[in-house]
Amino acid sequence: MYKAFLIKYAEIGIKGKNRFIFENALKDQVKFALRWVEGTFHVSKEQGRIFVEAMTDYDFDETVEALQRVFGVTGICPVVVIEDNNWEALSKAVGDYVDAEYPSKNFTFKVAAKRGDKRYPKTSPEICMDMGEYLLDRFHELKVDVHNPEVMLHVEIRNKAYVFSKVIPGPGGMPIGTNGKAMLLLSGGIDSPVAGYMIAKRGVRIDATYFHAPPYTSERAKQKVVDLARLVSKYAGPINLHIVNFTDIQLYIYEKCPHEELTIIMRRYMMKIAEHIALENNCLGLITGESIGQVASQTLQSLAATNEVCTLPVYRPVIGFDKQDIVNLAEKINTYETSIQPYEDCCTIFVAKHPVTKPSLKVIKYSEKALEEKIEELVKVALNTVETIHVD
Ligand code: ATP
Ligand code: MG
Repeated sequence: MYKAFLIKYAEIGIKGKNRFIFENALKDQVKFALRWVEGTFHVSKEQGRIFVEAMTDYDFDETVEALQRVFGVTGICPVVVIEDNNWEALSKAVGDYVDAEYPSKNFTFKVAAKRGDKRYPKTSPEICMDMGEYLLDRFHELKVDVHNPEVMLHVEIRNKAYVFSKVIPGPGGMPIGTNGKAMLLLSGGIDSPVAGYMIAKRGVRIDATYFHAPPYTSERAKQKVVDLARLVSKYAGPINLHIVNFTDIQLYIYEKCPHEELTIIMRRYMMKIAEHIALENNCLGLITGESIGQVASQTLQSLAATNEVCTLPVYRPVIGFDKQDIVNLAEKINTYETSIQPYEDCCTIFVAKHPVTKPSLKVIKYSEKALEEKIEELVKVALNTVETIHVD
């Protein structure tokens, strides 16, 4: 029945030049999302709206699902396209639409008409009145309510006519590409994919860095991170995933530093390296899946100690979330099943029995002095051997 979709978006705060940028980015993201759907679509921007028209047969559910992943979209209206807009044909087609879409006619409605083609013999108020009358005539249970209708029936006449009344909610947020780029520290866990999703939802394009420690972490663990990046990219668009070989750095820290400080020192080097890659790739911030108190390395003291090595802002969108809140969101965005696959990321291998929970920065810095001889060289090697995978 539906041959097109009208895409609604929130307009607050997007005036003037920003509006143009917002709409173009949204149009690009809609096109990107529809690339994976069977069928050919024509996406256009017109009169403050995005219009998607199916040029071939397509799968309705799959298309709606794809559009529901486009940040910036607040509503998706399936549209019936009526080729013949002469009044007889048009009113009958609108009636058929109401009949098919609303099997029970026990509701109130109002017709909202727009006439794009000014040569059309009826004015907009006339279209509203006459269409209302036609529908009341055809379906006796229907009632008109001009103030608070249960169904707002939109009829638009251009060279063809368009009818819609349903709004399927979109994800909200801002279109990807309207708010710069940031570097996600992506592990194989539950939290970091959710963190990436949340920042991407604000229109931020994402790159990702994963610290891999072969042979302590397996190829499967790496594949899991690639899979997670792919799942996040369904919302966030293409992601460049930078894979850092962290083994030698980790072994060196293990050899030289007190074991209860291992995690903090390791995390400091992760942040440092991620920031380096971020700056090389025009990223304006780092993103992590940290949440206060979740583990020893996420107390306020630990967060302060890891944060100290960075100059870029570090965004931690799940910082105040309980684990269950994060799990719920992971389930909603479909990363949970992949995240709980049992392949270790590098942190779980080198964990001490009793890690410090309140590290003192002074003590940590003192411990790091033991690394002076080789650490710079090891970091350099790690940076020179980064493998980048384009995930899309
Ligand atoms: P997650 O569920 O995201 O793995 P976590 O609860 O396991 O988080 P930690 O292991 O302490 O927490 O990691 C905190 C954050 O540090 C992660 O959310 C992620 O952003 C980053 N991180 C941890 N390990 C890695 C890794 N191997 N590669 C890249 N980033 C990592
Ligand atoms: Mg983890």
